[in-house]
Amino acid sequence: MLGAPGVGKGTQSQILSRSLNLPHISTGDIFRDAIKNKTPTGIKIEGYVQSGKLVPDKIVISVVEERISKKDCVSGFIMDGFPRNITQSETFEKLIKKLDLPPPIVLNIRCSKNIIIKRLSSRRVCKNCGKNFNLEFLPPKKDNICDDCKEQLFQRPDDYPTAIRKRLDVYEKETKELKNYYNKKKLLFTINAKGNIDEISKQIHKKLLSNNI
Ligand code: AMP
Repeated sequence: MLGAPGVGKGTQSQILSRSLNLPHISTGDIFRDAIKNKTPTGIKIEGYVQSGKLVPDKIVISVVEERISKKDCVSGFIMDGFPRNITQSETFEKLIKKLDLPPPIVLNIRCSKNIIIKRLSSRRVCKNCGKNFNLEFLPPKKDNICDDCKEQLFQRPDDYPTAIRKRLDVYEKETKELKNYYNKKKLLFTINAKGNIDEISKQIHKKLLSNNI
């Protein structure tokens, strides 16, 4: 799944993961977990993630290789947040060849910058279970409290406006080449993220079906 931070690719990846019965792998989630659990990788990458910078390719690639080599990935997986640049996508190509998997189907979810900034700055996450809420579109039933586990919600430091702008700049710079790369290989399918979660999900499924994927 390709898409700027805040286009809803995490949510759409989860829906697709359920409907296709394939694991959802989010490098951002893996990194946030590693930071929370203070693992050696978490300690190394904390500064990058919290300031909205990309984690060095070497670390990202070794984390991805370890995850996609697991048994639950033999029939495929939904990859969310990776690859983010050409080096990562070239290495990913080698990895999937080594694992005997077919080339990826790249879904590019597009959305305007203003909508993204509005969405991200109103996102809140549960401290305990990680569930996402949005003050604008999906508010919790009780102010600042998770509907499921009743713990407090917080704002991710990388969802502060300065970090959002940084993430969008980084995203644009890094993925321009990436989109060209997959477009040339005829693996890129673009979805305009207009409407609510259900409508966007329907568009994605329609696109996959109409392309015989
Ligand atoms: P995300 O939740 O996908 O927006 O990722 C959150 C943060 O994790 C990013 O701002 C980066 O610091 C880091 N990150 C996630 N995936 C990658 C990747 N493929 N390459 C480099 N850094 C990444």
